[in-house]
Amino acid sequence: MSEFVWCHGPGCHKSHTQDRIRGVKGSKVLRTKKVAQTQWNSGERTSMYSYFCSQGCYNDFANTYVREVIALHPRTEALETPVDVVKEQDIDWGGRPCITTKILSS
Ligand SMILES: [Zn+2]
Repeated sequence: MSEFVWCHGPGCHKSHTQDRIRGVKGSKVLRTKKVAQTQWNSGERTSMYSYFCSQGCYNDFANTYVREVIALHPRTEALETPVDVVKEQDIDWGGRPCITTKILSS
C-alpha cells in the first residue's frame, strides 16, 4: 500500500479533469488529487512535488499564502556571497578577441 498526501493546492478540487471525478451519478464531485510519496519525492528528496500534484497547484498555494510563508522566514537584510571578479582574454562568437568577465565564488 502506497503512502500519499492530499495536494495542497487551494483550488485542486476545482480543476475540471476526469481524474478528479468521484462518486456515483447524481452525486459526483471533483476531489483533490493524491500525491504519492515515492523515493523520488520523499525523505531527502522532499520538495514541492511532495505536496502538490502540479506546478499550477503549487503556484496557486504560493500566491494565496505568500504573506504567511514570508512571515515564517522574513528577509530583513541582503545576503552576500564573496566572489572574485576576473577579466580574461577570450574569443567571441565571430572569432574576434575580446575580454570576458568571470565571477568566481569560493
Ligand atoms: Zn493539485
